[in-house]
Amino acid sequence: MEEEQRLQPLPEDWTRAMAVAAHPDDLEYGAASAVARWTAQGKEVVYLLATRGEAGIDAMPPEEVGPLREEEERRSAAVVGVQTVEFLDHRDGVVEYGPRLRRDIARAIRRHRPEALITLNHHDTFGGPSFNFADHRWVGLAVLDAAQDAGNRWIFPELRDEGLEPWSGVKMVCVAASPYSTHAVDVTDTFSKGMASLMEHRVYLENLAKGSEPAPLLRQFAQQTGQRLGTELAVGFQVFML
Ligand SMILES: [Zn+2]
Repeated sequence: MEEEQRLQPLPEDWTRAMAVAAHPDDLEYGAASAVARWTAQGKEVVYLLATRGEAGIDAMPPEEVGPLREEEERRSAAVVGVQTVEFLDHRDGVVEYGPRLRRDIARAIRRHRPEALITLNHHDTFGGPSFNFADHRWVGLAVLDAAQDAGNRWIFPELRDEGLEPWSGVKMVCVAASPYSTHAVDVTDTFSKGMASLMEHRVYLENLAKGSEPAPLLRQFAQQTGQRLGTELAVGFQVFML
């Protein structure tokens, strides 16, 4: 059974990471606890969001929601020691996979020069019966591709015109919430920070359907993953090496 497979400790022999997700709140459903651990170790982590999540609240119009969720994401990031939060301004809900998305991510990789990339599950499902959102699928896939694009001087020559030289220093891409996790991070000491990070999405969480409170679920996942790593609490990642 996939759920019972043992997970390896995620390599931590790096100093700079960039976490890329489609929406404000994506990284806060688990990955943020790992980010809190890494920043506490003195590593630098920057966030890159493809959209502002402006289509995420049914009762409010996008022009109000975008700036509000951007602010919530900045506060979430600060809780786990992340000071740099950037937005690519792709349109929430209809992010398109293609050269533009790959180039925008590759540009950020060349600017920040991370050794590790973190992103959210790009697979069709999270392992359950629900199909994964289009934005998650496309952004996750584009991160995997951009990790290579960033190191190739011929794929996006316009980036060199901007003064951005190729960066082939990305050693691994870590996909959070994948149904095929291979590795995990012990977050026993930083889980509460990850949870506090999620709670900064106040307006978004207030507008979630009643009964879909994320806090108990988040702890349950962390406990299950912890069992597979041999720690109390853990966050799983599917790791692709470059
Ligand atoms: Zn999302």
